[in-house]
Amino acid sequence: MFGRKPKKSNNTRYYEVLGVSATATQEELKKAYRKAAIKNHPDKGGDPDKFKEISQAYEVLSDPEKRDVYDQFGEDALKEGMGGGGATHNPFDIFESFFGGSGASAFGGGSGRGGRRQRRGEDVVHPLKVSLEDLYNGTSKKLSLSRNVLCPRCKGKGSKSGASSRCAGCQGSGMKVSIRQLGPGMIQQMQHVCPDCKGSGEVIDEKDKCPQCKGQKVVQDKKMLEVHVEKGMLHGQKITFQGEADEAPDTETGDIVFVLQQKEHPKFQRKSDDLFVEHTLTLTEALCGFHFSLTHLDGRQLLIKTNPGEIIKPGQYKAINDEGMPHYQRPFVKGRLYIHFSVEFPEAGSLHLEQLEAIEQILPRRMVDQMTEMELDECEETTLVDVNIEDEMRRKEQQRQQEAYEEDEDNGGPRAQCAQQ
Ligand SMILES: [Zn+2]
Ligand SMILES: [Zn+2]
Repeated sequence: MFGRKPKKSNNTRYYEVLGVSATATQEELKKAYRKAAIKNHPDKGGDPDKFKEISQAYEVLSDPEKRDVYDQFGEDALKEGMGGGGATHNPFDIFESFFGGSGASAFGGGSGRGGRRQRRGEDVVHPLKVSLEDLYNGTSKKLSLSRNVLCPRCKGKGSKSGASSRCAGCQGSGMKVSIRQLGPGMIQQMQHVCPDCKGSGEVIDEKDKCPQCKGQKVVQDKKMLEVHVEKGMLHGQKITFQGEADEAPDTETGDIVFVLQQKEHPKFQRKSDDLFVEHTLTLTEALCGFHFSLTHLDGRQLLIKTNPGEIIKPGQYKAINDEGMPHYQRPFVKGRLYIHFSVEFPEAGSLHLEQLEAIEQILPRRMVDQMTEMELDECEETTLVDVNIEDEMRRKEQQRQQEAYEEDEDNGGPRAQCAQQ
């Protein structure tokens, strides 16, 4: 391809590196590579150059096409681009693909061939408090956030010259692989970010460090984000700003995610697209009808009224259509507004006997009228007393606990110990 015949160069060294004969089968090559790679892995104290050589040798010899070129013309021919690309792969990638590294998928699973993998930065999650009014009407909130951005002075290189040297700790891969031999032929491989270069795979000379970011490659930046809270959004719903989180070199920037947190409302309760409100009526209102105004979440006054002759029972619900929450992304569709009624009865003694007699004339007949004299005679007399049921139940529970404690004391508690002394 360069118009000259490739001259023959060394074509036996790769076999020597792996310690196999020139006629070795693929199976023998695999075995030899496995043994040599584990023995010479830098994380097990092996020589990095030797490890690289082993990987290179295996890479060539395990590929029939490359092996053929190597056998005929030697190493130099491969370097000149024969045999399907001369680019040498990262020795750690070869090692990983051989042993089936588990850590690879966690870093985006990109091609990673011959270079670093592109990592994905972390998402930044912020809770965002909103009122029910905000969710009903929609709103936008401006928020100022500080974040890391690539240093504008060095364009994220970290150095004045743009140069950096390979990290010795990880051979520039940014990752460290630690191996554990679990048993004969059984290997556990763990991959983690190199602590020396924090995964960048490179180090910068002290004198060459960028004065703005001091070699950190990133600087702090303030950014104003406008969060649009749309009508009908839900508690817990996420609003995402793609790629607005901290920037880092060779890293896909993560997202800023706001999670809506709806504050409690003093009057309205929300259940998806419906609203609930509590309203207490007097007995007269419940029986004779009523009207009142309710201030909605957008400030409108709703007139709530009964139909003539309508009676509201304690605990009853009524609903108003289309006065609930707007539906997210279809704000003209609204849920229902439910009103839950409780009825306040007149206090004892607030009505005179004559008034009660008058009421009796109007209301449905009493049950007592439906019992015969004989039926009444067969009943035993009782007296109704007033109770505060919650207080009473609480007091009784405390009493039970006290009794249980005293019983414990009797069966070898502190008192029994006193008696022994
Ligand atoms: Zn490193
Ligand atoms: Zn810089």
